[in-house]
Formats: sequence, structure tokens, C-alpha cells
Amino acid sequence: METKDAIKINEIFFSIQGESSWVGYPTVFIRTSGCHLRCTYCDTKYAYHEGGVMSVEDIIAKVKTFPANYVCLTGGEPLLQQQSIPLMKQLCDLGYNVSLETSGDKSCADVDARVKKIIDVKTPDSGEPQAFDPSNLQFADSLTEFKFVICSEKDFEWAENFAKQKELFKKSNVLYSPSFKTVQERWLAEKILSTNSGARLQLQLHKYIWSPDTRGV
Ligand code: SF4
Repeated sequence: METKDAIKINEIFFSIQGESSWVGYPTVFIRTSGCHLRCTYCDTKYAYHEGGVMSVEDIIAKVKTFPANYVCLTGGEPLLQQQSIPLMKQLCDLGYNVSLETSGDKSCADVDARVKKIIDVKTPDSGEPQAFDPSNLQFADSLTEFKFVICSEKDFEWAENFAKQKELFKKSNVLYSPSFKTVQERWLAEKILSTNSGARLQLQLHKYIWSPDTRGV
């Protein structure tokens, strides 16, 4: 998939950030190709294989064509490709606010400390509950966000227990996102209110702005 100095890229585009605490900011999205997981709710299956190889230099040149202060590296799984690491560093050096969306099963140890890490914790109903790399718990701090996509009551209880046991509510932003068209936003809002453990409701804003059939972020 990867050549020495390049990354296989699915798409680069400018849109509104739909997730994380940076929701709403105009953002350049760099979507890498390839993912080794197969989440039941995946909305970016087109990124499993489609894409073309680009050098880090060419990716940055493309990013500069957009009037953005925020850049999000997403996938697929960006950390499958080693050049994602220097790409994020160079973007930080250029003054961009950089975020990384990762599935949580690859270590974030080499990710530049300036990058906002949005780390998935895969729930049982994701189909990939074994995926989380516990070493990523070391990055639980105010810059890091742990995201749980909630597909069911069982997932909600599981997420609450996980976040409490790992003290994520105290250390980091904890985001609960309703699996789109699987559970109702209102149901999850009421669940969060009922426990008030410290989680934040996260809706995928882009899916409400653009057509649900539009490719999501
Ligand atoms: S980790 Fe992300 S890209 Fe990979 S299968 Fe899961 S939802 Fe899809």
C-alpha cells in the first residue's frame, strides 16, 4: 500500500468538522486509504481500498489550497501508514490545528504531542470489541478525546463501565455518538442525562448538514 515517502490517500476535501470538540470548524480532511477493522456501522467502506499514492509534500501542498486553520487526518485508519506521523508533525509545524481520528487499536506513541487525538473505543456491538490498544490510555489528558459509538443499551452500559474503570471521565473528553439510524439521538441524550457520568453527546453534524447519502466524514 505504502511507498517509503508516500501515503495512500482516499480523498482530501474541505468541509465542516462534524465531530469532536472542534465540531463546526471549517476543516481540511485528509482521508487515508485502508482499514484492517470492519465495524458494523462503518460509513467509509469506500476508503478500504480506493485511493492513490501521494507524497507528504503533495498532500501539504493540497491542504494549503484551502483557507483552513484546522486539519483532520482520518480514514480508514491513518496509523496503518508510517508517513502519517511526519505528515502530522509537519502540519503542526506549519501552524495548523491538527486532529487525528483513529480506531484505537494502533499505538499513538509516535503521534506529535500537539495533535488532538480522537481515539475510538470499540464497543461490543461495533463487532470489533477486541480492537482497543490499552497502551493508548496513557494519552488520557485534556487534549485527548475518547469516542464510543453507541449501538444499543448494552453498548451504553459497557461504555460507562469502561470509562469509569479507566478514569477517562476525570482525565479526558468522553464522547458518546449514536450509531446513525441505529439508535435515536434522543434516547442517547436521555441515557446521558440519567447517569450524568461526564460523557458528552456527539452527533455527527455533517450528516445533518449534508444529505445522509453524502459520503460522511
Ligand atoms: S475503524 Fe473506522 S474506517 Fe475502520 S471499519 Fe471501523 S468505522 Fe470503518
